[in-house]
Amino acid sequence: MNKLYLGCHLSASKGFLAMGKQAVAIGANTFQFFTRNPRGGAAKPIDEKDVEEYLKYAKETGIGTIVAHAPYTLNACAADAGIRNFAKETMIDDLKRMEYVPGNVYNFHPGSHVKQGVDVGIELIAELLNEVLTKEQTTTVLLETMAGKGSEVGRNFEELRRIIDKVELKDKLGVCLDTCHVWDGGYDIVGNLDNVIKEFDDVIGLDRLKAIHLNDSKNPFDSHKDRHECIGQGNIGLTALVNVINHPKLQGIPFNLETPNEIEGYQKEIELLRNMWKS
Ligand code: FE
Ligand code: FE
Ligand code: ZN
Repeated sequence: MNKLYLGCHLSASKGFLAMGKQAVAIGANTFQFFTRNPRGGAAKPIDEKDVEEYLKYAKETGIGTIVAHAPYTLNACAADAGIRNFAKETMIDDLKRMEYVPGNVYNFHPGSHVKQGVDVGIELIAELLNEVLTKEQTTTVLLETMAGKGSEVGRNFEELRRIIDKVELKDKLGVCLDTCHVWDGGYDIVGNLDNVIKEFDDVIGLDRLKAIHLNDSKNPFDSHKDRHECIGQGNIGLTALVNVINHPKLQGIPFNLETPNEIEGYQKEIELLRNMWKS
């Protein structure tokens, strides 16, 4: 029996149990949250009682895999060693904390190479992952597909593949596909979703696809911009996004909305999409 795991980005400020309850209240059975302030800074200490209550609640209510998102200001391939070290220490700390909610996923933006070139960027990202990943961790670390604005690494499937190839503990690595980013990055999920999925499978392997960010885009195809839009109000459109959640090869993967919404807007989008899910 297939199940649709659909949710959205939530604020982590009140802890895991509060996120779980908010998710369930809006019809979600997955959610995403920032591990700390997205602009960086210290993380809130883990409240063990909150985590314990959350795990019980998630089991009772059928919440599936949840997605932790690293601060988007981290740059694993910065030219400055101090900035890279900050990214490394933050990820090590986040992954330690993720073990309180074992078996979930931790997504990060690979980074921006700035003027070093993509080859150096890929090398530095892989180097950092080789220092961060441990055999013991139960969390899968996800590289997010990027729109390719500026000097972002991960602008196409090949760049992500090249990072994966250089990482030793490959079984700890996966990919999070963002529909807005791949559309802006030049993958035609509107005109030929099957082809994009086949290309992902050929280059990376669908077994590595562990999460999907379901977003519409404010910008046209191949614009390399990265501005999310509400479902059905952008250039990707409702039909194409509904095709994504209904695609037979994408069943069981958690879909999370990162659309410009408050909680009521997310609730409406979740309801709309659930009504259009076919399996
Ligand atoms: Fe992201
Ligand atoms: Fe995203
Ligand atoms: Zn984005």
